[in-house]
This record gives sequence, structure tokens and C-alpha cells, in this order.
Amino acid sequence: MEDNFDTLAVRAGQVRSQFNEHAEALYLTSSFVFENAAQAAARFSGEEEGNVYARFTNPTVTMLQERLAALEGAEACVATASGMSAILSTAMAFLKSGDHVVASRALFGATQQLFGTILTRFGIRTSFVASPSPEAYREAMTPATRMLFVETPSNPLTEVLDVAALAEVARAGGALLVVDNCFCTPALQRPLALGADLVVHSATKYLDGQGRVLGGAVCGRRALTEEVFKFLRTAGPCISPFNAWVILKGLETLRLRMEAQSARALDLARWLEARPEVDRVYYPGLPSHPQHELARRQQTAGGAIVSFQVKGGRAAAWRVVDNCRLLSITANLGDVKTTITHPASTTHGRLTPEARAEAGIVEGLLRIAVGLEDLADIQGDLLRGLPG
Ligand SMILES: *Cc1c(COP(=O)(O)O)cnc(C)c1O
Repeated sequence: MEDNFDTLAVRAGQVRSQFNEHAEALYLTSSFVFENAAQAAARFSGEEEGNVYARFTNPTVTMLQERLAALEGAEACVATASGMSAILSTAMAFLKSGDHVVASRALFGATQQLFGTILTRFGIRTSFVASPSPEAYREAMTPATRMLFVETPSNPLTEVLDVAALAEVARAGGALLVVDNCFCTPALQRPLALGADLVVHSATKYLDGQGRVLGGAVCGRRALTEEVFKFLRTAGPCISPFNAWVILKGLETLRLRMEAQSARALDLARWLEARPEVDRVYYPGLPSHPQHELARRQQTAGGAIVSFQVKGGRAAAWRVVDNCRLLSITANLGDVKTTITHPASTTHGRLTPEARAEAGIVEGLLRIAVGLEDLADIQGDLLRGLPG
């Protein structure tokens, strides 16, 4: 198989059945039959490779795993029911009571909850780091640290972390570096090539790309993904074959979507930066972004998330949201339909005002996940609520 991204995106992993179908087949079956008792025994013992039960493997899920692994440049991939189950399965595979995790402060809300409250009940402690500096991660590590868990760029302020530098910090401390690559996807950023040990995904976002199904994945060296698989096949947060099939087809257009949505996002960010009603724009593709140079080295484009701060605090921000007729008012992202959200009162609404201030989530902040609508229509929608 040629190893060019575009070719892999539409070809990798496909296995045809006896019917020689052109498109990837959807195998809606929970179990598989054996030729005879000896084969059943061999399949169960693992002596013979093959499908047994869909909590373990399913041919449609396998096709998704092979294709996504190819795109991430990973040896192997394990697909899961959702992004959160990918993160949970990774934690369960590698952490035990007494272990310590260092994670970025600006994680997806449910990830923060998982590490900050649920895993603590099992004796797994997490330190959250607010600074993007790799040195701050090194300082937060203890002899018990087994994992560094980060997202880059961050949500909603698009802070970019240096994956190669963090990989060195992790390796020096004997910890695994896990990167949630949800915002960039392998179309724009390949953390494994930069030294990360594992990539986790919410496939619900850009990998599907059209807001249809939940899914998740963990990619990396086979020795590591095997550990995740052992947890998954026993505990059961496996992906449905239908969802896997939808995401598998989503991968075929991933690069085209990510590049088109990033280009729209850059144009929108430049336009917002020039508006008098806007105090500040957060977008890695803008030269004004504090980690612009790092983003240029690490990503092939800025991604589709643009955040900006309007003058006039919450009232002004809500006016923009409430005047949108085209943009969807939703916290979801990763869709070809553009979405707008007010983080301070939604995704970050449960934080104390002090914690919000520390995280930089001010009342005038708005986050847009740019889709594929015409740029002029997106601008027109925002102008309705921007005074002046
Ligand atoms: C949505 C999201 C998740 C969780 O994924 P689900 O598929 O909703 O479980 C994890 N990380 C990031 C960055 C996300 O945006």
C-alpha cells in the first residue's frame, strides 16, 4: 500500500468479503460462527486469529482501526464507544492505585472530571499544570508519575503545547505521554511522530466530521494498544459497528475538511482581529498568537477553532450569540456546520469565578468551531450581534 495520507485515507484497512463490494461493508453482527469445535477452541485460546464476539472484534471496526492507525502513523489502533471511553480505557490500562498523572489544566471538561474526581477515588492522583512550559510539567512530576496527559491546541483558548519537548520530559521521568489529538486530527498534526506514546481521539468530532455518531480511539505502538484492548474487551466500552462504519467513511474526507475549515477559520480570525468590537482573538494561525511559531512547526494548519473576546463582557457576548440565525448555538464542535458557544456560562460554567479567571475564560469570550459555510455568511451572522 502506498503510504501517502490521501491514499491511505480512502484505501487503508479495507478488506473485501466474498461479494467483492466496492465500499467498505458494514457487518452488523454481534457474534461469529466457527467451522467446527476445534476452530472454536483455537479462536477462544487465541491460537487462531479471527472474530469471536463483537465486544472483542468486528470486521468493520477492524477496518476503522487499521485506517486510523495508518493516518496517525501508528503501529496499531483500538476504537472505542466514545472519546471519553478511549481516555478511560487508557487510564485503566496503565494506571493503578498510588500512581500520579500530570495533565494540562485546560483539558476537555469530562476529562478533567475523570482525572480530577473519579480516578482519585481509586487512589490515582492528578496534578494539573496551567503553564504551557514543558519545564512546568517536569516540575509537577513525582517519582510516582506514570502519565502526562495533554491536549493541544487547548479548548477554548487554543494554547499550543510543545509535544516533542513534553515527550522528552515524559521519557526522562519514565512516564507515558498521551496526547488528545481531537482538535487537529492526523490531518494537521501527528503527535506520535513528535515522540508521544499514545494518541487518543474523540472520533465524535472531526473524524466523523458531520455530527452523526459517537466514537473514540487510542493509537500507538502495538505493545501499548494491546493493553488498552485487554481492558476494552473485558470491560466493554466498545464501538458499535455502525458508528465505526460512519467514522471510517468520515476519514475519507478528513484532510479536505480540516484544510478547508482551517482556511475559513484563519480568514475569520483575521477579520475578527481587525474589528473594533473585538479585544482579542485566539487562533494559532495568527502571528499575534503567543505560540504561533511552535504551531507552524508542529501543525500543518491552525485548526478550525477560533475564540475571541468581545468588548462589553457577558452582555455583549450573549448579544452576539442571540443574534445568530445561521451559526448553531451549541458547545459541540468538529462539524461542517459552524457552532458558537459562550464558554463562561456553558462548558466552563461550573468553575468558580476564580478558577475561570485563572483559566482565562473571561465573560466576553466566545468560541467558534468553524465549519464549511461561506465565510461571508458566517461574518454576516456575527455582525448582527456586534454593535457598531
Ligand atoms: C468531545 C471531546 C472529548 C470526549 O469525547 P466524546 O466522544 O464526547 O466522549 C475528549 N476530548 C476532547 C478534546 C473533546 O473535544
